[in-house]
Amino acid sequence: MRIPDRIKILDQIIKITWNDRYCTKEGVLGQSNLSFNEIMLCHKYDGREIPQEKINQTFFHELSHFIMYIMRREKLVHDETFVDNLGTVLCNIMLNNDFKGEKENEGKIKAKRKTGTR
Ligand SMILES: [Zn+2]
Repeated sequence: MRIPDRIKILDQIIKITWNDRYCTKEGVLGQSNLSFNEIMLCHKYDGREIPQEKINQTFFHELSHFIMYIMRREKLVHDETFVDNLGTVLCNIMLNNDFKGEKENEGKIKAKRKTGTR
């Protein structure tokens, strides 16, 4: 899965940054800065390459913090167990379904509706 450079949730744009040194120093694989709309991830931890599946899972974990923050679910924003479960479910949905070409398909559906065919 390609992790985007930024992600838009409602009217908020969350920037995704990469910092191996910071993550190793802090002992984390990722971190959310809710006030500055930033998710920090790393490719390497303590000099070792992190498997892509782990990066994906970390990304969705951090994204779940933002979803709860934006939904103003204060108690859930910092509930690591809840956030981790939500992140795992979201990651699983994204990895096990084909979202590619959805926009092109939407265009075709609209075009068909206009011409009266279904
Ligand atoms: Zn967390």
